[in-house]
This record gives sequence, structure tokens and C-alpha cells, in this order.
Amino acid sequence: MKEDLEKAFVKAYNKPADHFFFSPGRVNLIGEHIDYNGGLVFPCAITFGTYMLTAFNNEGVFRFKSVNFDEELSIPVQDSYDKLGKSWYNYPLGVINHFAKDGHQLQGLDLLYFGDIPIGSGLSSSASIEIVTAYALNQLFDAGYSKLDLVKLTKSVENNFIGLACGIMDMFAVAFGEQDKALMLNCETLDYKAVDANLGDHLLAIINTNKPRKLAESKYNERVQECALALEALQQELDINNLCEVSPITFNQYQHLITNEVVAKRAWHVIEENDRVMQAAKVLSENNLEEFGKLMYASHDSLRDLYEVSGVELDTVVDYCRTNADVTGARMTGAGFGGCAIALVKKDAFAQFTDELTKYYTDKIGYAPSIYSSLIGDGVGELKLPVTH
Ligand code: ADP
Ligand code: MG
Repeated sequence: MKEDLEKAFVKAYNKPADHFFFSPGRVNLIGEHIDYNGGLVFPCAITFGTYMLTAFNNEGVFRFKSVNFDEELSIPVQDSYDKLGKSWYNYPLGVINHFAKDGHQLQGLDLLYFGDIPIGSGLSSSASIEIVTAYALNQLFDAGYSKLDLVKLTKSVENNFIGLACGIMDMFAVAFGEQDKALMLNCETLDYKAVDANLGDHLLAIINTNKPRKLAESKYNERVQECALALEALQQELDINNLCEVSPITFNQYQHLITNEVVAKRAWHVIEENDRVMQAAKVLSENNLEEFGKLMYASHDSLRDLYEVSGVELDTVVDYCRTNADVTGARMTGAGFGGCAIALVKKDAFAQFTDELTKYYTDKIGYAPSIYSSLIGDGVGELKLPVTH
């Protein structure tokens, strides 16, 4: 496949590529809907990602092409750029705009992308293309940014240039991911720890429900507000700045301060989910996949019953997983209402898992899911060229 990309580059630009970069997608293993409550998330890089090949040109233009999309762009090197319609090339263009505005000396470059991440299903192909571009430009133009700078820069591109209010977890995981490690990250302080996450004889199955995440945005805002109400109520007696400072034991003592039953349920999810992340880091680093799997199921139950962000599609996937002895744990991942679930599946049982789940899901939902097998992979980096040597 990588050789094919070198050929595709030659076909696109009539010359060989000089550099070859890769950036993964990501999943959040556990710790859902707690990033905006000062809590811990636990993402890892996956082995699907975005490949990027480059070569300088002498024509003073940036040329963007992607194997995944037909639209292409050629635009002169200049001091700043505006968003151009809704095309995919706004992602790299936004990154280039940031470098240009920071005063870095840029020169003409031909770029070709290819991604094998299912696009638009919550595995963060957007953070992947942003980070791979930022990493490549940083190296090619000797811009001197740290990896953390690149994470903040690409978040700003997604928020301000693309216009999407995403958090920092995606960029962070894609940039700092390490093979067989998960990142326990506080999205506010950006403190993080890479935790051993050896999957042993398991792989990470990613199940796209293929349900559009229509409700996700409005419900997301509703949950953010409910958490703010819970915090306000607790602050009457507790000196805290966010919900995740409260332990489950303390919450038990003070939950009476929250008079609205729904708001109390939301707070329970947040506080217990944050606690589950810490337990997950511990049991994973001890190679205890059984316990980790139980925490995944508990996380799903909480997201379904207390936080109410699951749905019949995600529940159907997880319900099936519970019946299969070769599945050690499963949960929805991401904002919910569709998108993807993840499952820890024995490697040698994956083919059967795929067949059975596809049948079970299709019978119930009326269309098929898409199922992928992944491992925990590395973060962004440069690959060697030519790949055939
Ligand atoms: P997600 O991040 O969940 O995959 P988004 O809608 O946030 O979904 O981002 C997907 C967009 O990112 C695509 O529509 C496209 O504009 C851009 N993108 C991602 N991967 C590629 C790629 N390989 N080539 C070109 N554009 C890409
Ligand atoms: Mg995205």
C-alpha cells in the first residue's frame, strides 16, 4: 500500500516524493464526557491513519491532492489564507495559514494525502490530517514548534479556521500516542501519563454503527449545561472548581444538594467515570484485561442509563458483545447517539465475531455496521522513503 502511494505521488506530480509522514486516528478507551468537567480521558492512537507525501516545487505554490477526494487545490505561497468553501483541503490550508501568520518562511510544496481511517465516524480523521500536516511543515520549514505547540496549533485551526468547537484530546492522542500505550490525560491542565496497555492476545475491534450522529451536538450542549448546574449546586458546600474533583464517596455525602434528579444522574456518571479511568489505568498496566473489560461495560451502562447518550444501535453492539465469550469488554466511544463502539476481542476469534455481530446487528437495526480490527499504534512521525528498500 505504501509503495502504491509513492506511485500515486509520481502520477500526481511527475516526480518522486521526498518525504513521507504518518499520523494515526484515535479512540478513547474509557473516560467519556468528562473532559469538560476537569476529568481524565484515556485515548490511544489506532493503526489506521493519514499518510502524507511531499516534495518541494520551484513554482511558489502549494498543491493539495488526496487519494480520498477528487477536489484539488493549487494556491500561491502567501502571508495568510482564508477558508475556501467546504472542501477537505481547508484542513491543511488552515495549518499552513497558522504557520504563515506566525511569520515562518514558507516555499512551494506539493502534497498528497491518503487516509485509511473511516472518515466522519468519530475516529478523528480530521485531527489526523491536521497533525500530520503540522508535523510535516514543522520539519520541512524548520519552524521549531514543540509537539505540544503543534497540538495547540491544530486545535486552534479546527476551532477557528474550520469552525468546529472540538476539545484538545483528539490532537493530543494523535500526536503523543505510543504503540501499546494509552494516554491518561487531563484536558484542562494537559498533564498526562503514558500507561502500558498491552492487549496481548486481544485486538481492538472498532464497530461503526453507521448511524449518523445527528443528535450529538444539541445533546452535547445540554449535558454541558446539566454538569454546570450540578457543579453550582455542590459549590454551595464544597470548595471545588469542577465536578471531577469530587470522589464517589464525597458525592454520596453531598448529592442531596442537587435537587433535580436528572442533573444528579449526570453528575453520578461524571464522577464515577473519572474514577473508572484511574482504575482502568491501574488494571491495564497490570495486564489485567478482564478487569479492564468490566470497566468498559460499566462505562457503557453508565453512559446509557445515567448520562443517556447511547442509543439502540450502540446498545445492540454492546449487548451482542456481552454474549460472546471471546469478547472481554465493550463500550460506546465518543459523544454518542451513533458513531463507534469499541470491543476487546480475542485475535483468533475476530473473523467469527465480525460475522456474528454483523448478522445480529443487521437483523435488529436493518443495516450493517462496519467493523475494523486495530491495535494500539504510534503517534505522528516520519516514515522512510523509498519504502521498498
Ligand atoms: P472525523 O474527524 O470524525 O473523521 P470530521 O468531519 O471531523 O470527521 O473530519 C472529516 C474531514 O476531514 C473530511 O471530510 C475531510 O475534509 C478531512 N479529511 C480527513 N481525512 C482526509 C484525507 N485522507 N484526505 C483529505 N481530507 C481528509
Ligand atoms: Mg473530526
